Amino acid sequence: MMKKGISASKGYAIGKVFLKKEEKVSVVERKIEDVAGEIERLKEAARASKEQLMKIKEKAEKEVGAEKAAVFESHMMLLDDPEFTGAIEMNIENSFVNAEKALQDVTDMYMGIFAAMEDEYMRERAADVKDVSNRILKNLAGVGEGDLGNVDANTVVVANDLTPSDTAQLDKTKVIGFLTDIGGRTSHSAIMARTLEIPAIVGLKDITQTVKNGDVVIVDGIEGIVEINPDEKTMKKYEEKKLVFEKEQEELKKLKNTKTVTKQGKRIEVVGNIGKPEDVHQVLENGGDGVGLFRTEFLYMDREDMPTEDEQFESYKYVAEKLEGKPVVIRTLDIGGDKQLPYLPLPKEMNPFLGYRAIRLCLDKKDVFKIQLRALLRASAYGNIKIMFPMISCVKEFLDAKAVLKECMEELKAEGKAYNENLEVGMMVEIPAAAVAADEFMKYADFFSIGTNDLIQYTLAADRMNEKVSYLYDPLHPAILALIKNTIEASHRAGKWCGMCGEVAGDERVIPILVEYGLDEFSMSATSILKSKQIIMNTEI
Ligand code: PEP
Ligand code: MG
Repeated sequence: MMKKGISASKGYAIGKVFLKKEEKVSVVERKIEDVAGEIERLKEAARASKEQLMKIKEKAEKEVGAEKAAVFESHMMLLDDPEFTGAIEMNIENSFVNAEKALQDVTDMYMGIFAAMEDEYMRERAADVKDVSNRILKNLAGVGEGDLGNVDANTVVVANDLTPSDTAQLDKTKVIGFLTDIGGRTSHSAIMARTLEIPAIVGLKDITQTVKNGDVVIVDGIEGIVEINPDEKTMKKYEEKKLVFEKEQEELKKLKNTKTVTKQGKRIEVVGNIGKPEDVHQVLENGGDGVGLFRTEFLYMDREDMPTEDEQFESYKYVAEKLEGKPVVIRTLDIGGDKQLPYLPLPKEMNPFLGYRAIRLCLDKKDVFKIQLRALLRASAYGNIKIMFPMISCVKEFLDAKAVLKECMEELKAEGKAYNENLEVGMMVEIPAAAVAADEFMKYADFFSIGTNDLIQYTLAADRMNEKVSYLYDPLHPAILALIKNTIEASHRAGKWCGMCGEVAGDERVIPILVEYGLDEFSMSATSILKSKQIIMNTEI
């Protein structure tokens, strides 16, 4: 039997099911008289929870690194948060209910708030509250920690969902994969699986109802497929796939510190796309030569107010310093279209992708734009930062953006603040008009980076998010190839460089063509870097 879900972490695993029991502690409401005693019970359970979390955090730090372990820090903070624990205590005091019931009410309230949020990342944070709450409940009931740390070798863990503390308990030498009913690609368990480099499939809906302990399962983390108690033929097929995959991964790892050079000796930069400052680590771990696209809008999302100049400065500086002189191309705010900010309400539009977004919005809201540019300039004193403007459609727009940048430079100079006076300023080529008239833009830009995600949707009039027209969304369409070729050649005619940061840069079918066209820099998600390096090194050009 076969089931399909969402691939959360690549790779193959063949093993036996360990079904994680839902250790639900049921909450029974009790009226209490000794309010102080009940609050003390709650405090004691919170203290025990904190001790457990401290241990889990230490283990996670060793196994997956400080950043991924930080989630437990936030769990501990929640335990210290008077808005959370204080609300529970107040509930005990006001309603004379037991700690379990008071905890449940407050948890439900918080979960409701998170679950109603539009942003997927914030919705996932409801899981953190639930995780902390379950831990306190178990400690109130005196129930132990669960048994995930104690499984046989070759185990595939199957659970409704894996909380961060569950994932931290997993013994990497024994657990070779996991499957969950719920979750998406950005859930903690998915992120952890990628960090632990074990194949995982999430969002399988009812996998916990479909398998039982001891069943043999094949986890195909590439296609997001689970085979349950497979026949011999399927088993053989996957054993072979697994071997090929593992050998390939080993081979690829050898390329980590190798410079990417084509067979004819052309040096090519293979760099990563990041959304958050910490993502830079994965790029480096995968042998990236730098960052080709830092989508800064993520710094503006998931919060209630605009990030300040200093906050942004710290983020950009962090990335620049971690890269130790390797380049980072930072794209200015690309908001609007499908990306909205709660504190910057934008009018509803008929065609948001053709509307008020990215550089159009920034040039209109100069105060917002200047905060970012000042932060970027200040950070440029600490590393190899290049600035890139998104969605440029005409030369005037690019010149206007550069003029605002110049204004910021002058301000900083007057304030005696350092910045790199020679920093490169380039633009994304993601609107067909810019690709066609690339020579004109090259009079003013220091570099191009081709944004195929938008370039394809605008050229073929096929919405990049609409599955119904996805058959039209073809990077190999002759019109797309012609636009890419012209853009690269225009940059070379001007003696400058051209990169690509759309998904096509990591598309195995297209890479050899791009090398032939002379693309100088390929920017992609960190996990595609090694494979792309290998393909480029095998091209005959
Ligand atoms: C692109 O359009 O190709 C691109 C890299 O930008 P985004 O995906 O952020 O629109
Ligand atoms: Mg784009």
